Amino acid sequence: MGNDVLVFGEIRGGELKKVVRELISAAATATGGTGGATDAVLIGAGAASLAGKIKGFGLRKIFTVEDELLANYSTEGYAAVLASLIAENKYRYVFMGATAMGRDLGPRVAARVDGVMFSDCVEVRMEGGSLVVRRPVYSGKLFVELSPEGDRTVFVSVRPNNIAPAAESGGSTEISPRPSGVTRDMIRAMATEIVPLAGGRPDVTEADVIVSGGRAMKEGANFRMLEELADLFGGAVGASRAAVDAGFAAQPIQVGQTGKVVNPKLYIACGISGAIQHLAGMRTSKVIVAINKDPNAPIFEKAHYGIVGDLFEVVPLLTKEIKTMMQ
Ligand SMILES: Cc1cc2nc3c(=O)[nH]c(=O)nc-3n(C[C@H](O)[C@H](O)[C@H](O)COP(=O)(O)OP(=O)(O)OC[C@H]3O[C@@H](n4cnc5c(N)ncnc54)[C@H](O)[C@@H]3O)c2cc1C
Repeated sequence: MGNDVLVFGEIRGGELKKVVRELISAAATATGGTGGATDAVLIGAGAASLAGKIKGFGLRKIFTVEDELLANYSTEGYAAVLASLIAENKYRYVFMGATAMGRDLGPRVAARVDGVMFSDCVEVRMEGGSLVVRRPVYSGKLFVELSPEGDRTVFVSVRPNNIAPAAESGGSTEISPRPSGVTRDMIRAMATEIVPLAGGRPDVTEADVIVSGGRAMKEGANFRMLEELADLFGGAVGASRAAVDAGFAAQPIQVGQTGKVVNPKLYIACGISGAIQHLAGMRTSKVIVAINKDPNAPIFEKAHYGIVGDLFEVVPLLTKEIKTMMQ
């Protein structure tokens, strides 16, 4: 087995996920100095036209697989395409985003090709010719570093927003359309419709700025205030589980252990106490701002900036000030 890498170019909502360029960057680290090359595979509707977006990023080949059976994600269909590509090309490493799709696909394909799976990694580096990945454990309280043994294919899922995205580097990339080899009887379940979140805001896992609300928001309508602040930055709105359980916000924007893990440049927590399960989802944010009326709220131990006050006064003031600064 050589040192070639396959990057899974995830498509969602007709667009390539932002994490794909981060994966190309991780792949460059893994192949650096080893003589290995990086290929990518794009599966689903629009694969052929989206391939152009990552051409010229140092890739050797981009496989595109379009088939009406794979227009939307299906676990069995996508896994079959990946497994056959890996068997044919004997990749040493396969990189994918630690997204809902990557989490579903990675372990299944790894098991099928008898590979090794490292999930949810935040760092990838080479040491003495061997891959080292870093991943959080115990809700982010500790990190472990792992290296593969033997020469089986190593699957690495990488958390979005942790690795600097690859820059365009020129070079020629071959675009290689490929039949899927998938038949209807292989597919047990298929997404029939993807309903985007209202508001057209970025996904919390990809946003640079997140304004999150907790139980203290009191009702769903009050999240409008957080949306207004988030929109000034082109950011996303998040929520604690208490806010989601109370019906103030939708589950896909829940941040935490049983929600999404996020890593934005700026996380503004409004009326969120800072329970360990919430921190598990956002503690690695670059800058954390907490607004809470209780000066002893645990969130202040993790926040870089804290405002002790009533969010219903502070958030509108902050929004007004930022609007003025932006004029
Ligand atoms: C297995 C398990 C998994 C879990 N997973 C998650 C998860 O993924 N995500 C998650 O968030 N939680 C999760 N939880 C729940 C978690 O333990 C907390 O219950 C939850 O995070 C609390 O949400 P909160 O901070 O919004 O509410 P609270 O803890 O009730 O905090 C509300 C905060 O708002 C402040 N406040 C009140 N009024 C105002 C005001 N007007 N202005 C400013 N501040 C105000 C209060 O001082 C308080 O600090 C999980 C729990 C378990 C057991």
